[in-house]
Amino acid sequence: RTVGADLARTARAFPDGEALVECASGRRWTYAAFDAAVDQLARGLLAAGVEAGDRVGIWSPNCAEWVLLQYAAARAGSILVNLNPAYREHEIAYALRHSGTKLLVAATRVKGSDYVALIGAVRADCPALERVVHIGTADWDALVEGGRAVPLEQLREREAGLSPDDPANIQYTSGTTGFPKGATLSHNNILGNGFQVAEIQGWTEADRVCLPVPFYHCFGMVMGNLGATSHGSCIVVPGALFDPVQTLDAVQNERCTVLYGVPTMFIAELAQLEAAPGRWDLSSLRTGAMAGSPCPVEVMKRVMGEMGMAEVTIAYGMTETAPVSTQTRRTDSLEHRVATVGRVHPHVEVKVVDPQTGATVPTGTPGELCTRGYSVMLGYWEDPERTAEAVDPQGWMHTGDLAEMAADGYVSIVGRIKDMVIRGGENVYPREVEEFLYSHPDIEDVQVIGVPDPRYGEELMAWVKLRPGAPELTVDQLRAFCAGKLAHFKVPRYLHLVDGFPMTVTGKVRKVEMREQALRLLA
Ligand code: ATP
Ligand code: MG
Repeated sequence: RTVGADLARTARAFPDGEALVECASGRRWTYAAFDAAVDQLARGLLAAGVEAGDRVGIWSPNCAEWVLLQYAAARAGSILVNLNPAYREHEIAYALRHSGTKLLVAATRVKGSDYVALIGAVRADCPALERVVHIGTADWDALVEGGRAVPLEQLREREAGLSPDDPANIQYTSGTTGFPKGATLSHNNILGNGFQVAEIQGWTEADRVCLPVPFYHCFGMVMGNLGATSHGSCIVVPGALFDPVQTLDAVQNERCTVLYGVPTMFIAELAQLEAAPGRWDLSSLRTGAMAGSPCPVEVMKRVMGEMGMAEVTIAYGMTETAPVSTQTRRTDSLEHRVATVGRVHPHVEVKVVDPQTGATVPTGTPGELCTRGYSVMLGYWEDPERTAEAVDPQGWMHTGDLAEMAADGYVSIVGRIKDMVIRGGENVYPREVEEFLYSHPDIEDVQVIGVPDPRYGEELMAWVKLRPGAPELTVDQLRAFCAGKLAHFKVPRYLHLVDGFPMTVTGKVRKVEMREQALRLLA
């Protein structure tokens, strides 16, 4: 099915069920109303001259219009281009030019950043860009109203000509390891994956899904929105950008059953719960998904206990695979949930190979994780070279992640190939060291990187965020804490105390940037 057709099916099945709630404004849509609003906006896109295959950009933090446009663009047969709200002049110009975006829907102002001025500054460099529509202004109303000139039959005809294998979406990767790449995803890639992710969590039309994760990333728009609309569940938008208090308020006030987040979001929510015990009633929560980066064991235990998310799942994936390839199941043991990213998804294959030889390694041996199946992207947008580097002729996506598969099929992520540290000839996986340091009572968050060292090739540096009120920590105290419990070559040589980490807007720690900063610190 196409994304638009799938929404229509759900709207027929649950017309009166709630589809979308925007907490900030109090606006709400039933499935019947949402489906009709999507039709109206899709007709507006047709009236604006959007043809099948044209790129329609969306540059905004989370809001109801984002979700409406996601489905309207799909019905119009256009390719939605997700633009990261954290982009500034250089990046937005690059992405608009690279994707050849013809119509751009954008916010007006985000956290002190004037999007109208930013777009104005780059517009002359984006020859394909014909029209810019700012959300919350008369532009938006004009786009929607314009749809009245296009008969509904014309939209239905457009939809009838679409195939599930048509491109529906260009998503730029997080840019954790370098410059973002534009993964081109089909209707089938994203709808299939959104459906499976929700299916594994057992969603139904009774579920209400709180989404503080960004829509511009597949975590929000695929695992969240498409998961919900393929099951008749309700999308709850707690706020434009992540805020732990708004998120907890939304869960309580909307009686959400599902909550999504990257581990750092859950860490922030847990800190709020600790600061104000009893302030929130989270008893409606049942499940959710955590993804994007490894979840520390201690955090997982508290999410399942204090937050009541006993069935929470861990998902692993990447933008290029729409995104999820492995996930824990609701009934998995605590052990599997904290130590692995679960088993392979239905209709997907995974294997672990030696990055040098490409041969499958024995179970229990770390290697590069490769995935194949319906979810693998069509390719990087207009970049056949990088596509060929990532997806081999047999269809395997080479993820760049180091993983281990146990004999029972459970996969553990060991780290990124690029983050692995080789100290004195020993491979050190920073994740293992981070896991250990989390058990220190004064440490709230920690990241470990490798820094160049003349003697050992690389040395470990720990960046530590201390708990509020915790006493100062010295590198000697940290090393004493590790002594005898970690192999000597895994004990960090350097300690850097911080208030936070350089992050992508998807909430991932940018270790490339940490390594750059560390070089300056050590110079
Ligand atoms: P870029 O490719 O631009 O450097 P990115 O890889 O971070 O950025 P995404 O596609 O958003 O961009 O993220 C996918 C990556 O996130 C995976 O390759 C993996 O390294 C990491 N990841 C995702 N889920 C998990 C998880 N559950 N546990 C550990 N790592 C994860
Ligand atoms: Mg990547």
